[in-house]
Amino acid sequence: MCLFCKIINNEIPSFKVFENKYVLAFLDISQETTGHTLVLPKKHISNILELDVETGHHLSDAVIEVTDLLSKKLKCNNFNILNNCGELAGQTVHHLHIHVIPQHENEHFTFNHNSHDPDFKKLELTHKKIIDK
Ligand code: 5GP
Ligand code: ZN
Repeated sequence: MCLFCKIINNEIPSFKVFENKYVLAFLDISQETTGHTLVLPKKHISNILELDVETGHHLSDAVIEVTDLLSKKLKCNNFNILNNCGELAGQTVHHLHIHVIPQHENEHFTFNHNSHDPDFKKLELTHKKIIDK
């Protein structure tokens, strides 16, 4: 059984902040910022490529609810909400989870997205690859 399934089954303790029939949310053990929370389906799904639509709806509803909860209780209105899908993307626990990371005035999480000059030839080729039947 995977680590997060053990947390769902209460075999490993966690600081739960939200739970319903389909979804659990608990504090990430390694807090990027205060309130950094993981939101995950109770059903074992390894990553977003394996996600079914119904579970996806439950998960996205819960992400909105958890973000709202953190916003109200921790008095913050800025968040990074992200998912690492696959090892190259930095996924270390192979049970799908969404990171909800609050941004606080005095406690900043740095999300690196590099800014490049637009390469329109490449954009066109990539776009074609994606939309071609
Ligand atoms: P990933 O790198 O797969 O996107 O994120 C996995 C996250 O799980 C990491 O941020 C890590 O800190 C967190 N984590 C790993 N082990 C535990 C644990 O035993 N309990 C909790 N609450 N979080 C964990
Ligand atoms: Zn699992």
